[in-house]
Amino acid sequence: MDRAARIAVVGAGLGGLSAAGFLQRAGFAVRVFEQAPAFSRIGAGIILSANATKVLRRLGLERALVEAGIKSQRYISRAWDTGETLYEMVFDAHSEQHFGGPYVHIHRGDLHAVLERAVAPGTIAFDHQLVDLEETSDAVRLVFANGTKTEADIVIGADGIRSKVREFVIDDEPPQFAGAAAYRAIFPAERLRGFKIPDCTKWWGRDRHCLPYYLTGRRDEVYAIGVVPVSRWDGDEAPIPATRDQYLESFAGFHADLQRVLAAVDSVSLWPIYDRERNDCWSRGRLVLLGDACHPMRPFMAAGGAMAVEDAAILSRCLANIDDAAVAFRSYEATRISRVSEVQRISIANTWMGGPTDTDWFYCYDACTAPLAPPN
Ligand SMILES: Cc1cc2nc3c(=O)[nH]c(=O)nc-3n(C[C@H](O)[C@H](O)[C@H](O)COP(=O)(O)OP(=O)(O)OC[C@H]3O[C@@H](n4cnc5c(N)ncnc54)[C@H](O)[C@@H]3O)c2cc1C
Repeated sequence: MDRAARIAVVGAGLGGLSAAGFLQRAGFAVRVFEQAPAFSRIGAGIILSANATKVLRRLGLERALVEAGIKSQRYISRAWDTGETLYEMVFDAHSEQHFGGPYVHIHRGDLHAVLERAVAPGTIAFDHQLVDLEETSDAVRLVFANGTKTEADIVIGADGIRSKVREFVIDDEPPQFAGAAAYRAIFPAERLRGFKIPDCTKWWGRDRHCLPYYLTGRRDEVYAIGVVPVSRWDGDEAPIPATRDQYLESFAGFHADLQRVLAAVDSVSLWPIYDRERNDCWSRGRLVLLGDACHPMRPFMAAGGAMAVEDAAILSRCLANIDDAAVAFRSYEATRISRVSEVQRISIANTWMGGPTDTDWFYCYDACTAPLAPPN
């Protein structure tokens, strides 16, 4: 596409900032509009697998990611009651070379501080909540809650599961409650009183699971996310405060090693999990979606963020290499949809690494070099 094109990215999440970083490097004029007044250190961690970290490396972020988070050395799946090992991965120099990148855990707040470096200073306009889009004959006008307006030639909706841009591409159906909620707790590792845990363990129950992992290379901060079935969620999508006792009770009967971790939790909250039906239409006219805006993932494969990063790399390559934006969007969709829908399917089934698993197709994939599919 013509490098004079003005590109507006709505949403400064993983997908939006990655896309903006790649598009700026390709020579486009890019601005990112984010509803939040600033990035905050919300209480959650995230796992970035090799397929995501190798893309973030191209944005010059790998070292900062590893310094702010932890390069994991081991993942282990264990049975909820006996503690039997169901699956295990060792991450070392050999696996890093094989997969093409490290496996990183990081606090989401720290991740944002790193991601901000992907774009030129002044790229992100905070406190800009998109409320409307008006399409004119030769541009799109973006209208923000703060009363300002701006124009762009292309709008990338990277605004998450409740995307406003999606309303103009697909429909305004809200996401559906997925029948599950996640306890999220971060606490200092010293509360484990010397009890040693692997870098990341997934405890597999019949209808629930819990995933404690370290957030820093010093191994001084632990995150424990525990997903439980919940029949209904009244109210809005906001998390609600919970207690350590509730968390422990939800995992009563689980192996003593997990009980010790959950006993160390100090503050905890419960987050509803939302989802959408699969949808294969990600663009219309000058508008295109990426990440959770077009394909939210249940967080059972730890892959939603990675998919947003991969989308960003592929979409940027399509826009940089193909003159006509509509054709670029169709090539982007054709390249992404089969992989993303497979990841969505596995995430819903919640089977990833619960037993012997072929992980190469997922971790070895490189969105910066993978062939681009011809437009649909
Ligand atoms: C409990 C849980 C655990 C998870 N764990 C993992 C994990 O370990 N690994 C992993 O890869 N994924 C994980 N995920 C999924 C991952 O968080 C998402 O898939 C990922 O954040 C999607 O990135 P995104 O850039 O598409 O959207 P988001 O990260 O949601 O970013 C969207 C941005 O858009 C902004 N925005 C929204 N509306 C507007 C508007 N109208 N105007 C302006 N700005 C707007 C938001 O403020 C936000 O900054 C998890 C998800 C959950 C719920």
